Amino acid sequence: MNTANSQAFQLTLRLKNEADTQRFAEALAALNPAGSLWLSGDLGAGKTTFTRYFLRALGHDGAVKSPTYTLVEPYRLATPFGEKPVYHADLYRLQDPEELEFIGFFEYFDEPNALVIIEWASRALDVLPKPDWQIDILKQGDEARSVMLTCHDGNQQSLQTLTQTLTQTLAELM
Ligand code: ADP
Ligand code: MG
Repeated sequence: MNTANSQAFQLTLRLKNEADTQRFAEALAALNPAGSLWLSGDLGAGKTTFTRYFLRALGHDGAVKSPTYTLVEPYRLATPFGEKPVYHADLYRLQDPEELEFIGFFEYFDEPNALVIIEWASRALDVLPKPDWQIDILKQGDEARSVMLTCHDGNQQSLQTLTQTLTQTLAELM
């Protein structure tokens, strides 16, 4: 469960199908994650699909398009936790990390209660702040996925609460 770094929490889940991905996204949304969330996995692994369910779980009812060409799609959600800015980025086509500076990307991180979701953070490792959350998705068939969730948090108390909540909610997927 815990990694060598006692300040991080890791959970591995086996998702049978997209409905399981939705359950996972809903469980995570219920924790109101803030800061940044990196999504990794091959093309078609389900990074955008996860984000779509996550945004819906937080009350978004419009379309969620992949930010492949726009780099970032912004959302401002009215959640049970208050107003929540969520930025969904896909850096796959990023040419130069300086583009991020031009579009004011780094200001997103300073907004209260904001979450910046990043697909293909590997394209800008040198300039991005370290993630608070990481989800690594491994495709294991048409619909099956293995998912590793990592939460980096300096606060041991909140990590414990989070561990308990998630392991209870997602017990069937572990
Ligand atoms: P990525 O953003 O990682 O490139 P997408 O989310 O765009 O991937 O595409 C994932 C595709 O896989 C979608 O067509 C989705 O319907 C399909 N899919 C099948 N099973 C799952 C699953 N368990 N979780 C997520 N997506 C799934
Ligand atoms: Mg995608």
